[in-house]
Amino acid sequence: MDTNLILAKSEKLIPLTKEEAIHIYKNCSTEVLASVANRIREKIKKGNSLVTWQIDRNVNITNVCVSGCLFCNFHCKPHEHDKEKTTTLEEYREKIKETLELGGDQLLLQGGMHPKFDIFYYENLFRQLKAEFPNIKLHALGPPEVSHIAKISNLTSIEVLKRLINAGLDSFPGAGAEILVSDIRKKVSPNKCTAEQWIEIMHEAHELGLATSATMMYGHIESLEDRIEHLIKIRELQARKPKGSYGFLAFIPWVYCGKGTALEAKGIKENHSIIDYIRIIAMSRIVLTNIENIQASWLTLGKEAGQLSLHAGANDLGSIMIEENVVSSAGASFKMGVEEMQQTIRDAGFTPQLRDQKYNFRD
Ligand code: SF4
Repeated sequence: MDTNLILAKSEKLIPLTKEEAIHIYKNCSTEVLASVANRIREKIKKGNSLVTWQIDRNVNITNVCVSGCLFCNFHCKPHEHDKEKTTTLEEYREKIKETLELGGDQLLLQGGMHPKFDIFYYENLFRQLKAEFPNIKLHALGPPEVSHIAKISNLTSIEVLKRLINAGLDSFPGAGAEILVSDIRKKVSPNKCTAEQWIEIMHEAHELGLATSATMMYGHIESLEDRIEHLIKIRELQARKPKGSYGFLAFIPWVYCGKGTALEAKGIKENHSIIDYIRIIAMSRIVLTNIENIQASWLTLGKEAGQLSLHAGANDLGSIMIEENVVSSAGASFKMGVEEMQQTIRDAGFTPQLRDQKYNFRD
């Protein structure tokens, strides 16, 4: 394969084949990948130097979960009543008030596949929150939770999505994607929906007009080829979205945090190489020609990694995350306030721009 031809093709925003993407991932230096990705970002963002960011709060609905993901320290089993933590209505009220006071506009509500929380539980919760706080946006659940709710409520996944939208769901996170390659997924998240189900539920969300994001959790047992296969599947899914619907507004790669997890006990140590992360960000920008935003994460690798990513194809630095529990419980410990977020972006040579979940600019 001719490396220069592949790079030239990618800069013209022509989708690469899996083999072409693997070839440049294996054969190009980080500097080359980053500079190509940077030029693609400039093309897609029409030369602007804005880096978007957001203020929201990550609230975990419950830690009771039957999924048993091997990388998760946060959950407990349904019988472990002494460890159970389900957010109460009073706690939601306090968290929402605090979020609004800090300038936030959204709750990122993450699941836990609770064996008893069916569609009625989530409908009641969303309706109650929206009735009391009509301005707060609910960016909630993800394909694994929808698949689980459908199963225990005897509904189809599209019925669950429609009912959640009617109850107040504003947008749908691409959580729980991990790596969309079946044998990898079965090993790290044995009880979650399959890769095919994740893809189909996301497609249903796109057909229903929900704004969504896509994620990838890398750095555990997957190969470099698996990472690229994941990216290609996300790109193909985006290509199927109905014309005019939001589809995936952003792609967000996360590195595996393993401290104290069952995966670590099996010998899978975390590898927090910043170079590896920059290469992933650059490959995401190069492969995902039909997704407008690439979000860098500072939560697990720190703000310098986030700043470097902005020179390797990323154009968004995510949220200041008023609260986060899942990756924090597996060792990620970075925090950032509003001022620091803006300064971090300026120090990297860009202009900070506050946004909402749909990438509309906010004042
Ligand atoms: S990552 Fe989420 S789905 Fe997996 S065990 Fe933890 S809480 Fe459950």
